[in-house]
Amino acid sequence: MSATTAAASSTAEVLRFASERAQKYLAETQHGRVAPSEKDLLELGRLHEPFPESPADPREIIALLDAVGSPATVKLTGGRYFGFVNSGTLPAALGANLLAAVWDQNAALRVMSPIAAELEDVLRLWVCDALGLPTDCEIGLVTGATGANFTSMITARHALLARAGWNVEEDGMFGAPPIDVVVGAEVHSAMLKALTMAGFGKKRLKLVDVDQQGRMLAAKLPKLSPNTIVCLQAGNVNSGSFDPVAEICPRAKDAGAWVHMDGAIGLWAAASPKYRHLLRGFEQADSWATDAHKWPNVNYDCGLVIVRDAQALRAAMTMRGAYLQAGTRREPMYQTPDGSRRARGVELWAALKSLGRTGLAQLIERTCEHAQRFASELQRAGFAILNDVVINQVVVSFGSPEVTRQVVRRIQEDGTCWCGATVWQGQTAMRISVCSWATTDADVEQSLAVIIRIANESRKSAGL
Ligand SMILES: *Cc1c(COP(=O)(O)O)cnc(C)c1O
Repeated sequence: MSATTAAASSTAEVLRFASERAQKYLAETQHGRVAPSEKDLLELGRLHEPFPESPADPREIIALLDAVGSPATVKLTGGRYFGFVNSGTLPAALGANLLAAVWDQNAALRVMSPIAAELEDVLRLWVCDALGLPTDCEIGLVTGATGANFTSMITARHALLARAGWNVEEDGMFGAPPIDVVVGAEVHSAMLKALTMAGFGKKRLKLVDVDQQGRMLAAKLPKLSPNTIVCLQAGNVNSGSFDPVAEICPRAKDAGAWVHMDGAIGLWAAASPKYRHLLRGFEQADSWATDAHKWPNVNYDCGLVIVRDAQALRAAMTMRGAYLQAGTRREPMYQTPDGSRRARGVELWAALKSLGRTGLAQLIERTCEHAQRFASELQRAGFAILNDVVINQVVVSFGSPEVTRQVVRRIQEDGTCWCGATVWQGQTAMRISVCSWATTDADVEQSLAVIIRIANESRKSAGL
């Protein structure tokens, strides 16, 4: 970089400039479209230039990013985004994220970042406390539930094979004693991906039938043994339903199986006295995966793996090198597949500190109430709710698959709110997932008005 370019903008100046732009973006988020317009997307073409021959001023780069990039974002941080299971960012998490960006910490080892390691020590206790899990569980901060499920499966693989006298770290998976994996027919694709990456082919899986809500039927469980991993689900991505943990867990434990729970969404229901019953018995599992970037409204990317047997997790994840000297205390890197990584515990800590026990419970309960409101008003307007709305997820049909798809498309084009399409138990439907701390009653009302208007128009033009 030439001296003149370096001098053009100091780091502090760039930061101030970026921060001004960020605040402008934030202020505009509550108004206007939730998803970009066609015109906004066309502007992205401006980014397609040849690789620049010479350096550019950082401020000009931020200005371009804001001019072209900001309009092409999806406004997850506003209150009217109900797509996938995407939430916003709590103010404390956002502020912490900004400071952490300036810190630029590598959270791999304590010696690289004492603060990152210390916050993870705190989080280990807080997360277990908030969820009501044994406080000697170990946690790993990963990118999301996909990574958390993967880490869990690598850990389960280690533990079960070690018990069978096989050292998987030394001898690998080829020729290892067989392990059966039991999943529900409504298992999330991320769980399947995690299993595949961990060396369990899809043909190895034993699929258990589910009921109309997508819950595993305990009566249909195959024979379980100490060589079985049972993957339960807390919070189906469409219906929000929970596998009957209280029925399955004791049976699996009696058989000596490893019980894992994909609770990407639903694990946080345990933090609410009102919804905790959905997870009854879940504390008996061996490993749990969840997302902090879903219900707890922590910015991306932040997932959590929680493991009862800390030794098993460490045995599966430890990486050593002459220059990677561990201290005597917990090292973040020994609990995750990653080596170098960002200090994502900073934002999770800030989010949990800002919410506290009561705030976390209220966030869960408020978003569930919004979902209930969506369901009851849509039902009153004559549309079919296809799931029991047990948490924050609503699945609604507007009639035929064609009409439903058209309604979803028109809602997305309208831009007031954003909902996605799905197929639930063979029926084309729209999903509403209320995850954001920022969603207000007014957001729900405004969104409902648009959804109902568009659905009625679409049904009318289809002659329904
Ligand atoms: C969202 C989700 C995942 C995947 O989580 P990522 O954060 O996208 O990795 C896995 N399982 C379930 C049930 C989910 O809802």
